Amino acid sequence: MARNHASVLLLVVALAASACDRNSEHRAEFFVFGTLVEVRLVETDPRTAARVFGQLQQAFQRMHQEWHAWEPGALVRLNQALQAGHSAATTPEIIQLIRHAQLFERTSGGRFNPAIGRLVGLWGFHTSDFPIHGSPPHRDEIRLLVRSEPSTLDLRIEGDRVFTANPDVQLDFGGIAKGFAVDLAVGFIREAGIDSAIVNAGGDLRTLGSNHGKNWRIGVQDPSGGVAGGISVQGDLAVFTSGNYARFRQDNQERYPHILDPRTGWPVDSLTSVTVIANDGVTADAAATALVVAGVEEWQSVANEMGIDAAMVIDEAGVIHATASMLVFFSPSAGREIIEVNGQ
Ligand code: AMP
Ligand code: MG
Repeated sequence: MARNHASVLLLVVALAASACDRNSEHRAEFFVFGTLVEVRLVETDPRTAARVFGQLQQAFQRMHQEWHAWEPGALVRLNQALQAGHSAATTPEIIQLIRHAQLFERTSGGRFNPAIGRLVGLWGFHTSDFPIHGSPPHRDEIRLLVRSEPSTLDLRIEGDRVFTANPDVQLDFGGIAKGFAVDLAVGFIREAGIDSAIVNAGGDLRTLGSNHGKNWRIGVQDPSGGVAGGISVQGDLAVFTSGNYARFRQDNQERYPHILDPRTGWPVDSLTSVTVIANDGVTADAAATALVVAGVEEWQSVANEMGIDAAMVIDEAGVIHATASMLVFFSPSAGREIIEVNGQ
């Protein structure tokens, strides 16, 4: 079902553990970026929790509107100006997203590239309604867009203005927006003096402190159903997963997943799932997408280039490969085959 801006809702607020416990856990859920975001604030007084949830609701609503890749808002306005060959002023957060994108495009060797919005749109992936159906776009159309080499490195920033000489640059922050949003949410939570919390955007999340003195436990979904294993963390970390199993185009027996290799313009599918742990959401989100593009042969070297120690991937045969640093946090489900790789 397609959803619009107005559906960014605060659904549930404040489940106090017990009436006499003032500093208990408070929970809220928001619908944003097509995902249910659950926020849990541990040992927080009710007034602070209510204030933070109010801030988060406003912030999420604003991010959803401004960063949307195809619904009218600040990013779409910027893209229209760039396509018409004009420079344009934009928001400070979009400028930050562009700077993050430029860094990750560079460190991933072009595998992560949020300037390929026109390709993503050509494939029909600018929708909230998956799976989509029908044959892929014409090869020549794909080839044409790849040949124009859209890149975030083509963007020049001066103050709040953005320029490019390449009208085929169209920004789509789908691979990074959730990570940046989760980071901004954690900023509000920290500013309120809260030490322990989790911001969980449908399994992509950041933790702070502990879960009432215990580790935070996160299930890693198995693309073929069930749970591949669990991650157990404490402290300030981000855990993000990119998969090829939920969002795709179906054409008879053929599946075309939503993550594209910017160098070919075609979907990638040698890994069905990638999970990355990093210190912040934006890095973990970008890296998870980049490693899907890197594929079974190159994910370790790209992780190294992006400064990622803890990563695990599930290949087409369902085998889990994990770096030694990931195995500090991750335990596979019983009976799962797992291969440890060196990582750094
Ligand atoms: P994620 O779910 O974080 O892996 O992001 C996937 C989304 O990022 C897609 O739905 C597209 O909007 C966008 N995207 C697809 N391919 C790429 C790519 N190679 N680099 C950056 N963003 C991409
Ligand atoms: Mg991502």
